Amino acid sequence: MKFTFGPVPSRRLGQSLGISPIPAKTCSLSCVYCQLGTTDKLSIERKSFYPKEVIWDDIKQFKNHSEIDFITFVGDGEPTLNKDIGWLINKCRDHFDKPVAVITNGTMLFLNEVRNDLMNADVILPSLDAGNEDTFKRINRPHGRLDFNSMIDGLISLRKEYTGQIWLELMLIKDVNDTDEALFELRNIINRISPDRVYLLTPTRPPVESWVKPSERDRIERAHEIIENAISIYVKEKGEFDHSLYKNAHDAILEIGSRHPLRLEQAEMIGSQFGETGIVEKMIDGNEIYMINHEDTEYVLPLQFKKL
Ligand code: SF4
Repeated sequence: MKFTFGPVPSRRLGQSLGISPIPAKTCSLSCVYCQLGTTDKLSIERKSFYPKEVIWDDIKQFKNHSEIDFITFVGDGEPTLNKDIGWLINKCRDHFDKPVAVITNGTMLFLNEVRNDLMNADVILPSLDAGNEDTFKRINRPHGRLDFNSMIDGLISLRKEYTGQIWLELMLIKDVNDTDEALFELRNIINRISPDRVYLLTPTRPPVESWVKPSERDRIERAHEIIENAISIYVKEKGEFDHSLYKNAHDAILEIGSRHPLRLEQAEMIGSQFGETGIVEKMIDGNEIYMINHEDTEYVLPLQFKKL
């Protein structure tokens, strides 16, 4: 079983070796903008899921890889649901000369044990898309036992206890959380959390719900006025996908594409790197992947992402 993917180009983290320590789409949220399909395992139960040593065996193969900027726990869902994440972070810190990042939806940070597990990461990137409970429910569709105020308290506690970098990520969705009222509410909460950076994103990859639209430029500019010093990263990422651990273009496209939606030209580039031009069309004809247009860009996604 593979727990690592990439390194893939990341807009914030350079060449990022992704680690997914949980089964696909196991998450405490079911966000309307998710690029990984519908959450079919909505959960807040922390488990091991797999023997931690098996995950570590997969990660440590990359020890001498020279083109990694960050080791990133990210998951095909919420990585902090894996209760071994602290052990795995410590292993990476002890054996790699690379910084460790954790991309989390932030919902589990109300638990002391989760904050403790993340203490040795260099960077934590929690999401925050809503300034109130109703918007949280509308955008993030949380597990029934999650509470918006507890989640915010967890983020504030993290800031008090953690000395590493907190880079908060805010996904702006047209007409949902990009109004002046929503942005002022978000600003007030962000000020209470006091992250080191705030990144503004807007869905640039195909979202699970087709009604989700990216914020328009004037609203993003307004967001910058209200949330001062925020950094926009709604441009498409640049760089190549490392496919050296895959046997062929077919496996690379399916594996990378299930974690990181590929633009058509990125999938074709993987095909030509393996000398397999035409593989993308073949996989579309064989019903393994499908093409979708999102904001004037063609993407290819694994068939299991398709909403029936
Ligand atoms: S965007 Fe992240 S937090 Fe939201 S449902 Fe998808 S995997 Fe879970």
